Amino acid sequence: MNHKFFTLPLLMFTSAANADALNVLIYHHVDDSTPHSTSTRVDDFIKQLDAFEQQGYEIVDLQTAVREVQSGQETPQKRLALTFDDGFRSVCDTAYPILKERNLPFTVFVTTDPVDANYQGYCDWEQLREMSKNGATIANHTLDHAFLVRESLQDTDWFQSATRNIEQAQLRIEQEIGHAPMLFAYPYGEYNHELRDWLKAQGYIAFGQQSGSIEQHSDWQALPRFNAAGNYASVSSLRFKTSARALPTDFSALPDPVVTDALPPLTVELTPSDEAHYPHLQCYFNGQSVELDWHDDTRFTVLPPKELVNGRHRINCTAPHRNGSPFYWLSQQWLVVNQ
Ligand SMILES: [Zn+2]
Repeated sequence: MNHKFFTLPLLMFTSAANADALNVLIYHHVDDSTPHSTSTRVDDFIKQLDAFEQQGYEIVDLQTAVREVQSGQETPQKRLALTFDDGFRSVCDTAYPILKERNLPFTVFVTTDPVDANYQGYCDWEQLREMSKNGATIANHTLDHAFLVRESLQDTDWFQSATRNIEQAQLRIEQEIGHAPMLFAYPYGEYNHELRDWLKAQGYIAFGQQSGSIEQHSDWQALPRFNAAGNYASVSSLRFKTSARALPTDFSALPDPVVTDALPPLTVELTPSDEAHYPHLQCYFNGQSVELDWHDDTRFTVLPPKELVNGRHRINCTAPHRNGSPFYWLSQQWLVVNQ
């Protein structure tokens, strides 16, 4: 059998598009005067939207697209969804008119207490209602942006307090907007398995702040998003992210992010793949390349390069496609507590 003849059409198809994947971008401020690391400058935001269009991306409704990926439904176009966390004023005042003019859907994960308190830096309910009539989905980001799971190893009340926080924010959105989708974004991207499993039982889809792409083997209560702010706002930096795929592995089998161990091991069992080139897989810890310990062709363990201090840390692993691109991503957040 002539193998070349059979593999060529397959390669052409896989490099053409990520039709069965969804990539989600996370924004906070769209503003020239707010802090750099959480802000996307207005002209960068416009350049990004222009680039997505030129590169053939369809900007899609988040919930609909997630359901399509879940059900294995393929679409002809490459898809991107835009999300804005916290409900900052610049989203209503600046991003919204730009998105509305282009008729693009987007999701705002709102922290409801500052909106209820009419804080200056936040959208008000009237603005959020107006946006929800014109392409925006208003979704849950807790009442008060609490650290939901930081006390989970010492305090037995954390679970009740976290779940009540989410339920009450959901109620406020329902009361003010008229409906609340079953979508949730973890403040600071911090979660543990117990909270994730509760959200699943309630029927929520939930998003973290780790990087990656959404595919059928994703963890639906710990979905990744790519940061589109600060140093990551340039069109050239985003091009690499928007084309990214998910590393072939069962993401729900990844370890609980909350650990007491200052050197938490991350062991990943990869699914054999004709597309992702595992010998070129690399992992980065807080941006620094780290060595992998391969147990066999598809299983490796990676450790932080040094003991971790309390707080959030991130490990990103990427492997190129056999043809060089796109890249397949896996990102694990560690939240080290209680040392
Ligand atoms: Zn937030």
